[in-house]
Amino acid sequence: MVNRRNFIKSTALATAGAPWLLSDFNIHHRRRQEGKMGIALLGLGGYASGQLAPALQVTKHCYLAGIVTGSPSKIPEWQEQYEIPDSNVYNYENFDDIASNDAIDIVYVVTPNALHMPFVIRAAEAGKHVICEKPMEISSNRCRKMISACEQNNRRLQIGYRLRYESHHRQLMEYARNETFGSVKVIDTNFSFYGVNGSNWRFTDASLSGGGPLMDIGIYSLEVSRYASDREPISVTAQSFKTIPEKLPGMEESIFWQMEFPDGIITNGGSSYVARSNYVHISTEKGWYRIDPAFSYGGLKGVVNGESMNIPNHNQQAAQMDAFVQNIRNETPVIGSGEEGLQDMIYIEGIYEAARSGQKIRF
Ligand code: NAD
Repeated sequence: MVNRRNFIKSTALATAGAPWLLSDFNIHHRRRQEGKMGIALLGLGGYASGQLAPALQVTKHCYLAGIVTGSPSKIPEWQEQYEIPDSNVYNYENFDDIASNDAIDIVYVVTPNALHMPFVIRAAEAGKHVICEKPMEISSNRCRKMISACEQNNRRLQIGYRLRYESHHRQLMEYARNETFGSVKVIDTNFSFYGVNGSNWRFTDASLSGGGPLMDIGIYSLEVSRYASDREPISVTAQSFKTIPEKLPGMEESIFWQMEFPDGIITNGGSSYVARSNYVHISTEKGWYRIDPAFSYGGLKGVVNGESMNIPNHNQQAAQMDAFVQNIRNETPVIGSGEEGLQDMIYIEGIYEAARSGQKIRF
């Protein structure tokens, strides 16, 4: 089969006798000359292959320069599809050698949750800026270690909070800040899907996931309640449920929480692996607005007082990664920072503690 890579290889050898790697070198050289930062994706699973690598084809300020993987069988396909030279391919053993590779500016950690900390620390110690997927880790203590590793190595850290860079969600932040429709009163939000029968680590291995739907998707409902109120919670009560005991070992199946924020703002939040919900609905003194679906990769629909928000969708991951590069270049604060990731983990621990104890937990 003649594919692009083989074609380049044979053409280069036939015409100039030059090594085929020259072509890859040229591609990367050109992108660096365009001023783009090189990102290496670490952990080539569903999200890296389905969303991040495609997004890196449309980013303006960064590009997919390298990969780090524990699965050698994935390497040829990735190299071919994304024109990644051998010099930018690493495994989990030789990953630390990335320190001497100037083509990689940023490492993006996309592994199961409980592996975020070791890889983020190694990336920072190798002198790379780091993006780490949500949830930041499986405990607030581990999040603190990640933040301090990045600080000690003078590297920036972003958490993969794509929706903090998304236009509908930016609109919610603006409404809250400006009190466009008066003060926010109640935020109803739920992100759930029917995943109880899944075989992926997030449904089967609590030592990797750190919890059930709250860690995986409920975190978006928690996030939105913080930025749509423009406040930090002061207390939480919560209830968790399990109706299929043999599934989701060591994890909740459904969890619901009620959070109090300053100025009398209440959140009613939920997340489940046996439900189908994906919305945020905000009631204010003088009206209401809603995003539904709210947390998907695209197709978000915003409604304000019954009328469409008329906000176009865009590539969320590209916006997130481009913003991070701008933050690094301009030395500006990271919106989805490690501190935000840590804050969410503290609140998640509070929600779990409230559900376990039946008590109201104060932050
Ligand atoms: P996945 O299972 O599809 O991929 C995980 C990758 O990690 C795989 O390539 C796997 O080989 C690798 N890995 C390395 N060590 C492993 C180990 N010990 N056990 C299992 N896999 C191991 O998962 P995913 O859906 O791509 O999720 C990865 C991370 O991205 C998670 O933290 C998840 O929460 C996050 N995520 C974020 C979004 C988002 O919208 N921001 C969406 C999906 C996933």
